[in-house]
Amino acid sequence: MLVMSFLIVCVNVNSPVDEFKHMKVTFLGTGTCVDTSKAQSCILIEGEETKILVDVGVGAFVRLNDKIDEIDAVLLTHNHLDHNGDLLALLKARWLKGANELLIFGPIGTKAFLDSLFEAYAYLRRKPKFKVSEEREFEIGEFKVRTIPTRHSIVSQAYVIESDGKRIVVSGDTSPFRELMEVECDVLIHEMSLPSGKSEDHTTPENFAEVLPFCKAKVVYLTHMYPHAYEVKDKIVEQLKSVRNDIEFRIAEDLMSFEV
Ligand SMILES: [Zn+2]
Ligand SMILES: [Zn+2]
Repeated sequence: MLVMSFLIVCVNVNSPVDEFKHMKVTFLGTGTCVDTSKAQSCILIEGEETKILVDVGVGAFVRLNDKIDEIDAVLLTHNHLDHNGDLLALLKARWLKGANELLIFGPIGTKAFLDSLFEAYAYLRRKPKFKVSEEREFEIGEFKVRTIPTRHSIVSQAYVIESDGKRIVVSGDTSPFRELMEVECDVLIHEMSLPSGKSEDHTTPENFAEVLPFCKAKVVYLTHMYPHAYEVKDKIVEQLKSVRNDIEFRIAEDLMSFEV
């Protein structure tokens, strides 16, 4: 009996890899530019070998804790402050800690944006190690990534991130559109900035409901909710459920995690 229990303990200790799914996703920041109780947009995606961030808005830096020098890449959806405001803080900290080169991906204009940051902070020029890419499709470690241009007030893109057959989609800021909803994926992380009405560059329950019939995801996390949207989050979920009762809608909160 004793021998049996010892064996069982050994098996459990030696096989954590079997239990690891393909991607662990943690919302480090789900807030917007006016929130003071949440960090701004930032999602950590961890594979067995690789760690990436999608966006790194203001406040995300303090949520990284001991992972500052473990991040392999930052994927920017667009260059608004609530999505890239802590990028320079991350780069500077990594320089001081002697971290490896950080890969930065973003839409057209991201290279020029980085150049302008180092124009402004001349004392940091050529200190942090990083490489900027505006490629539309790329690989980082075990992650395969492709981008889809989105509908926002400046050039911006969603990310489709895949690892070993599992796939998640991150919308960034956008008004919702059919092509994005039609991507086959396990989880869709979509913005829901506004509580009602029409918008050309953000999501509301009404414009989301129009394209929801095309949604391929079984689980949808809603994030980037302005306070007046967050206040009525339950009502928003009810509205969406009335269109697609087969989808599980979840409200993303800072530090919430899930695995696929
Ligand atoms: Zn934006
Ligand atoms: Zn935003």
